[in-house]
Amino acid sequence: MEKAPKLSLSEYEKNFDEITPAFSKNSAVLEANRCLYCYDSPCIKACPTHIDIPTFIKKISTDNLIGSAKTILESNWVALTCAKACPVEELCEGACVYNEKGEQPIQIGRLQRYSIDHYFENNMPELFEQKESNGKSVGIIGSGPAGLACAAELSLLGYKAVVYESNEIPGGLNSWGIAPYKSRQADSLKEVALVESFGAEIKTGITVGEDISFDEIFRKHDAIFIGIGLGNSQSLNIPGENLVGVVDAITFIEDVKQEVWTNVDVGKKVAVIGAGNTAIDAATEAKRLGAEKVMIIYRRSEKEMPANDYEYELAKQDGIVFHFLTSPIEIMGEDSVTGLKSLKMELGKEDEKGRRVPIPIADSEFEIPVDMVISALGQKVKKHFVESINDLQIENKLILVDKETFQTTNKRVFAGGDCINGGKEVVNAAYDGKRAAHGIDSYIKSL
Ligand code: SF4
Repeated sequence: MEKAPKLSLSEYEKNFDEITPAFSKNSAVLEANRCLYCYDSPCIKACPTHIDIPTFIKKISTDNLIGSAKTILESNWVALTCAKACPVEELCEGACVYNEKGEQPIQIGRLQRYSIDHYFENNMPELFEQKESNGKSVGIIGSGPAGLACAAELSLLGYKAVVYESNEIPGGLNSWGIAPYKSRQADSLKEVALVESFGAEIKTGITVGEDISFDEIFRKHDAIFIGIGLGNSQSLNIPGENLVGVVDAITFIEDVKQEVWTNVDVGKKVAVIGAGNTAIDAATEAKRLGAEKVMIIYRRSEKEMPANDYEYELAKQDGIVFHFLTSPIEIMGEDSVTGLKSLKMELGKEDEKGRRVPIPIADSEFEIPVDMVISALGQKVKKHFVESINDLQIENKLILVDKETFQTTNKRVFAGGDCINGGKEVVNAAYDGKRAAHGIDSYIKSL
């Protein structure tokens, strides 16, 4: 692989610096005072965790920052990560009434961050009542946003929550999957510490099914919550996939997230295959690591691309080149990648999901010179894992749950986050985990 030259440390730090900086006190109060405290608050409805946004903003304007943080955390246990990584323009800020007036919406994400930063900087004062221990225990598999939210809520309800995490550093997607210019691992670890402060135990470096058997966790706990996210990107299934320089997007993003920038090699010319948010993250990170040219290769058109508008804009600002209606058919090279043979596509009729099917154009083969290929074709639930648990029903390759209780078809097992929704936002996983805790509580009380 022809590698891009390494940058200086200060260049890496600049490239991965936060794109949305923190508010100063004055700017936060000014922004909070713009809020109209709307009686029907469309922003609350648009937030998947239904944070009482006008109330927490009002508390900022009266300098009651701890009260503001309490209002936020009551609805969302991973509120710092969400404040930094949520697609706010599609959620709360997108619903703010200021949009209708043609004015800038209230910067809800930045205000939320302002309050939560203050809470962590003041050593997480005790704000929440905790019920007495009820002697029951719940095993939680995965310490990502769904698992953490479930553990926090169960701990406050009086349960012993034990979280099993295969990685040595907990936090799941929040610690490992979010681009560093949005949120750092240190942010995620503050949220882990908050959950631990409620008495939840987080066992890292423990893979369920390997280091502890499924039988044992079923023996040890009254109920189980699965918040395992998804596996690596799907295989490209084209020749050349094993050449040096072909990497999986999830692995690449995790490597970058270690924040030892010089340890991550990147090609001079990089092709990222896929056009979801993960693909965009991988592309922008490759560019910020020093790649000269980064291309997104997508077989449908701009209109069908799954990445949200904000991510798309960010990628264009970073100079990412988009090859739409292009489908790779072979990765070229002897030992390492030298090019990507592709076909031009056109769109045919809609499939059963309503998306137009890409059809190859005859004699349209061409080669794109590249040194590195990052596969970001979407992820699936870890099949071998879910098959190890009795009676779990899978639907559309995801774990099937009751949408109210988050109970699976195995009554003792609950699930939430990406493994039930195929990969939504952190905030959706946070909601699932919290709701599932109440589903678990009702189930255990009914026994
Ligand atoms: Fe404030 Fe906008 Fe929400 Fe209205 S919609 S309460 S102005 S943040």
